[in-house]
Amino acid sequence: MAVIDPRSGSVIETVMNPIRPRVFQCLHRTSVLLRRGSSQDVTAAESRSVQPVLLVSRLYQPSNLRDMGPDTQGEMTCKSQRLMQQAGLIHPSNPGCYYYLPAMVRSMEKLMRVIDQEMLMIGGQKLDMPSLCSAELWKTSQRWDLMGKELLRLKDRHQRDYCLAPTHEEAVTTLVAHQTSPSYRQLPLLLYQITRKFRDELKPKFGLLRGREFYMKDMYSFDASEESAYQTYESVCEAYARLFNRLGLRCVQVQADTGNIGGKLSHEFQLPAEIGEDRFLVCGSCSFSANVETVLSDRSGCPQCKTGTLVESKGIEVGHTFYLGKKYSRVFNATFSNAQGKPVVAEMGCYGLGVTRIAAAAIEVMSTKEEIRWPGLIAPYQVCVLPPKKGSKQDKAAVLAEELLRTLGETLPGLRGEVVLDDRTQMTIGKRLKDASKLGYPYVVVVGNGALEEIPIFEVICQQTGETMFLSKDGLLDLLGRVESI
Ligand code: ATP
Ligand code: MG
Repeated sequence: MAVIDPRSGSVIETVMNPIRPRVFQCLHRTSVLLRRGSSQDVTAAESRSVQPVLLVSRLYQPSNLRDMGPDTQGEMTCKSQRLMQQAGLIHPSNPGCYYYLPAMVRSMEKLMRVIDQEMLMIGGQKLDMPSLCSAELWKTSQRWDLMGKELLRLKDRHQRDYCLAPTHEEAVTTLVAHQTSPSYRQLPLLLYQITRKFRDELKPKFGLLRGREFYMKDMYSFDASEESAYQTYESVCEAYARLFNRLGLRCVQVQADTGNIGGKLSHEFQLPAEIGEDRFLVCGSCSFSANVETVLSDRSGCPQCKTGTLVESKGIEVGHTFYLGKKYSRVFNATFSNAQGKPVVAEMGCYGLGVTRIAAAAIEVMSTKEEIRWPGLIAPYQVCVLPPKKGSKQDKAAVLAEELLRTLGETLPGLRGEVVLDDRTQMTIGKRLKDASKLGYPYVVVVGNGALEEIPIFEVICQQTGETMFLSKDGLLDLLGRVESI
C-alpha cells in the first residue's frame, strides 16, 4: 500500500502490510496480540480470534490516597471511596467531582449495559437529552425556584439563565409535547437516558455515593390511563428488582416520599449499609417497608398488619420510582389522542437509578476493609493470570502462561478483553497475589509449581467465594467458560 502526500501527490512511503505496524505498536503498548507465528500477517478473521492480553504493568490505575482529605473533598470518608482511590479507580478533582479512571469506566460501561438490557426488556427506548437546560423550562414547572441552591445555575454570553440538569422531567415532557398528532397506539412510551447529572449538594461526601456530578439512569413513562400507568410503574419496579438480583445486591423496595419531584406514589430501592444516609423500616410479619420519612406516627407497630414489629435499618438509596400522574404533562401539554380521536393528557412516571452510586455502594457492601469485591458481572476484568517470578524455580512455566492466554483467546471469545496478565515478574507471586486480591478480579489463575507437572495444574482462586481450586487446563477452561461477562 502506498502512502501519498495529499499536497504533492507523490508517494512518501510504501507500506507492505498496513496491519503489521499496528500489531508491532501494540507490543510496546498496553496490549499484546498473542498469536501463532508472529511473522504472519494478521487477517481480520484472525484478529477476531486472538486475545488482546492486557499487561498489568501498563494499566493506568494510579493509587491516589494522598489526595484524600477534608481540604479537597469536603466531608470524609468511607470504605468504598478509600478503596476506589487506593486501587486507582477514581481520582478526586474538586468536591463531589471525580475522574473515572479506565478500570472504573470498564465497570460502569458494564453496569450501563446490564441496565440497557433490563430497560429494553420492558420496552424502554434510549435517548440522550441536553444537560444545559433553559431557565424558562424550569420556570414553567416552578422548579427554578423550588430547587433552591441545589440547582447549578449559569448564564450564557447573552445573559440568559440556564441550569445544568439535575433530572429531566421538564425536558422530556416538553419533547414529547412537541410531537405532532401523537397517538394512544404509541403508548406506553418509555424513554430513558444514562447521562451525567449535576446537583450542588450541600455536603458532597463518601466519594461516588454523593457527588455533585454523577451518572444517573432516568426513565420517563407516558400512558393513556391511570390504570395502565400503574402497570408500567410495576413493570419498572420489577425490572429494578431483576437488575439488583443480577448484581447480587439485596436491595429493599420501600415506600418513599415524593420530595420536590412530586406525584402520588413513590418507592426507593435501599441497599442496607451502615454508612447509608437513609433509614427505613421493615415489618417482621407482613410485606410493609417504608422510609422513616413516610411513617409519621408510632414507628414501633406496623401500620399495615397492625401486629408486626418494625425493624429499622440504614440504607443507601440506589434507585427511586415516582408515579407522577399529570403533574408535568398538564403543564407542558403532553397529550395523546385516544381511540375516539380526542386529546388526553398523558399519565407519567419517572424512574431513577444512581449508576455511579450503585457501583460505589456495591463496593461498599461487598468489600472487606482492604480488598475490593465486585458484583461479578461488573468487575472491570474477569481474570488475572500470574506467571511465575523471573529466575525462580518455576520460571519454566512462563511459557504455559502464554499458552494458556492463547487458548483462552481461541476457545472463550466471551472473555475477550477480560483477561489481564500480571507481567511484573520481577515481583514474587505472593506480592502480586496480594495486589490481585486488593483489586478483586473474580478469578486469579496462578501458573506456578503445579504447572510444571506432567499434566499441568493451575491454581485458581475464586475471589467472590474465597475458594481455591487446582484445575487442569480443561477444568480451568470449563470453569471460565461459565463466567457471565457482559
Ligand atoms: P438523595 O436523597 O440521596 O439525595 P435523591 O432522592 O435526591 O437522592 P433522586 O432525585 O431520587 O435522588 O435521584 C435518583 C437517583 O440518583 C437516586 O436514587 C440516587 O441513586 C442517585 N443520586 C441522587 N443524588 C445523587 C448524588 N448526589 N450522587 C450520586 N447519586 C445520586
Ligand atoms: Mg430519591
